[in-house]
Amino acid sequence: MKRDGQKTSVWQDTVRPVPYMESRGSYYDIVIIGGGITGVSTALRLQKSGKKCLLMDAHTIGFGTTAGTSAHLNTVIDTPYSEIINKHGREKAVFVAQSTKEAIAEIVANIHDYQISCDYMPHDGFMYAQTEKEGEALEKIKDAILAVGLDASDVTTVPAPFDILKAITFGGQGSFHPTKYIMGLLQAYINLGGHIREHALVQTVTENERDKLEVKTSEGQLWLTQTVVYATHTPPGIQLMNFRLAPYRSYIQVFELEDENQCPEGLVYDMQEPFHYFRTVCIAGKRYLMVGGQDHKTAHHDNEKYNFLELEAFVAAHYAVKQKKYEWSSQYYESQDSLPFIGLYPGKSHTREFIATGFGGNGMIFGTLSSVILTDFILTGDSPYKEVYAPGRIGPLSAIGELLTENMDVVKHFIKDRLRLEQIEGFVEIGNDEGKILKYQGKKIGIYKDSAGKLFAIDPVCRHAGCIVKWNNAEHSWDCPCHGARYASNGDLLNGPAVDALRKL
Ligand SMILES: Cc1cc2nc3c(=O)[nH]c(=O)nc-3n(C[C@H](O)[C@H](O)[C@H](O)COP(=O)(O)OP(=O)(O)OC[C@H]3O[C@@H](n4cnc5c(N)ncnc54)[C@H](O)[C@@H]3O)c2cc1C
Repeated sequence: MKRDGQKTSVWQDTVRPVPYMESRGSYYDIVIIGGGITGVSTALRLQKSGKKCLLMDAHTIGFGTTAGTSAHLNTVIDTPYSEIINKHGREKAVFVAQSTKEAIAEIVANIHDYQISCDYMPHDGFMYAQTEKEGEALEKIKDAILAVGLDASDVTTVPAPFDILKAITFGGQGSFHPTKYIMGLLQAYINLGGHIREHALVQTVTENERDKLEVKTSEGQLWLTQTVVYATHTPPGIQLMNFRLAPYRSYIQVFELEDENQCPEGLVYDMQEPFHYFRTVCIAGKRYLMVGGQDHKTAHHDNEKYNFLELEAFVAAHYAVKQKKYEWSSQYYESQDSLPFIGLYPGKSHTREFIATGFGGNGMIFGTLSSVILTDFILTGDSPYKEVYAPGRIGPLSAIGELLTENMDVVKHFIKDRLRLEQIEGFVEIGNDEGKILKYQGKKIGIYKDSAGKLFAIDPVCRHAGCIVKWNNAEHSWDCPCHGARYASNGDLLNGPAVDALRKL
């Protein structure tokens, strides 16, 4: 299975893609764009309801973050409920908590109904504080968890070898193998007659004079449909929504421990900034420790490889490690007000385009929830969650402040990255397996030299909004600091919101 980075995730390496016949149709009731957990779950629900669906992906099913996740299933989500209550009020926070429970129930029902073997395990979650300040914050988090109707209680130990000052536990969490899960859903979708088109990068969706939507790919192919669902993680093209999302990268490693019993029973979180997350992964009957963290805004770190070193050192300081089995990083998108955008695409003249994005680090949950909300919307025109997650919401005032800060950051990059360029005399100054943005013979140019010394030269202007991309030395990609578009070392497009490759020189 392929993924949008050069490192291999455990989920890519331990799954077999489902074979299928490529779609030959040209008209569908619904076109779902994006074959991650959001798109596959939504396509299955809609196909099951009797709609004729086409599921499209620019690459292959599971190419995006769904194969780069850590696959914790949480009702206690990354944004503390204390923050959600502050920003959105208690009533909405209660709705959010309910919806996370509904998402986990949907996953469990799918596993049962479609007999999906995906290592699902119910768990308790644990969160621990190591300083007085963290302890105070943890107390607030616990109060808020209780206030939204979930359970939480104090504990004196957690299933991890850390000195703790204070800790809480909460039930109703879980974990699974995300790509085995979506392959199970995909098989069910195919069995129900659902169609698939891979390697189809959607560039535009336009309404024609006969009231149909025209979905056009980079190859110039056209599909007609009644309804479109963008399950692309971030919507393609220059869209209002891109400016309400901020891209982040997070780093994961999987270790074989000297004593596999040290792998946690449960999901564990510390309270550092950024925080670490821990779980156990089973591979061929053996238990491995998965640790993640080091989150930062995409292309806002000078040396991405350093994050793996930091994470590894952190683990080695607390566990007896036998060997590191996997490491990879992946991308998620934070929304301006910490809640996802799920529902009608705002700013369109019709009500036939839908969107699901801004899941932060909880897209297993919110991607699944999107399949429920969007199916309700498409079939009945309504959803109980339409206001909480409305993509067109204005949001709280504090969120507008955050949005302005985000967009100032984009403007800063637009200007700064153009000015601060390294000048070199010749390509010999670039090491093997290294990428750089340079000025060469008066021209701005991105160079990647592969391990055999072969050069790839690109124009580093991002094809989305014109910012300058940055070399990611961990995943060997050109990443855009503004809206998170990413390109392979040769300039090919890895993920949106851009819909074109970098210009190759
Ligand atoms: C390191 C990390 C750890 C995480 N851990 C957790 C966790 O423990 N629990 C949790 O709930 N969430 C977690 N998340 C978040 C979660 O993984 C994501 O939110 C989720 O996978 C997003 O799924 P998706 O289907 O919306 O998008 P993706 O999986 O990214 O799929 C989008 C698909 O759309 C396709 N596409 C994009 N643009 C186009 C286009 N123009 N035309 C055609 N196709 C297109 C892509 O090729 C891709 O296959 C984590 C995220 C990261 C980065």
